[in-house]
Amino acid sequence: MPEGDTIFRTARTLERALHGAVVRRFFSAMAEPARADDERPFAGQRLVRVESRGKWLLMVFGEKNGADAEATQRVLATHMLMSGSWHVYGPGAKWQKPREQARIVVETDKFVAAGFRIPIAKIYTWEKLRRERKIPRVEEDLLRVEFDLEAAVKRLMARGAESVGEAIVNQRVMAGVGNVFKSEVCFAERVSPFARVSTLSESRARALVEQARRQLKANVMEDSGDRVVTYRGRHRRTTRNADPGASLWVYGRRGEACRRCGAGIERALQGDGARVTYWCLVCQPMPGVE
Ligand SMILES: [Zn+2]
Repeated sequence: MPEGDTIFRTARTLERALHGAVVRRFFSAMAEPARADDERPFAGQRLVRVESRGKWLLMVFGEKNGADAEATQRVLATHMLMSGSWHVYGPGAKWQKPREQARIVVETDKFVAAGFRIPIAKIYTWEKLRRERKIPRVEEDLLRVEFDLEAAVKRLMARGAESVGEAIVNQRVMAGVGNVFKSEVCFAERVSPFARVSTLSESRARALVEQARRQLKANVMEDSGDRVVTYRGRHRRTTRNADPGASLWVYGRRGEACRRCGAGIERALQGDGARVTYWCLVCQPMPGVE
């Protein structure tokens, strides 16, 4: 599943290619955008900007600027869930996937953005979007400058009965962390993903949030390529098909030796969503089990 850093990089790529351009063609094979006021809701408008909010990608259409621009803008929000992706192509470029598989297409004079296997797409006014609790606010997004650290620490601490691993992937606590960063962040802070949040001091909780922010940010640096890694703090380029565990501390490394202590890395499914978690029993003991 794409995590916050992946969506951030996708938004940056789309923003650079399409920002400010007039939409020549908008196509959607999905029910929701087609149900909007108009069958071609965005043709003739400008793509004002593209931004990410946690794991959501927002495309803002409307007038470029102006005092009351927001009132007339519409926001297309897409969520990739497990397998969705956006591609950008120049005119005449060969597409990596068959055109008929694109579920949403935004075409300008210079570029075409095509969304594949996108399971969720919705159109909002800004007013409606602000009321939509599924879409994180800017101050909840770990990658935004507006991110409010202290508020996130409070939201995390308020989930005392939950495990740390479940709480930090909760997008309402902070937006952007998925299974990979959950495992890596807990390891870096030597916290068991199965420890209850109530066993954390406030400063430990803050350190976890800061660690998550640091790791996500390292992965959206300009030269980061597909995925930069956290292992020994080095930024190594990995390719899409490479073994993800080759460059990480614990994620994807079940049974392999912990890079810190040599013990075998554990793997388990955690929480209601049965989300995969990797950790080291020695480096990340349960509180009271030293
Ligand atoms: Zn270890």
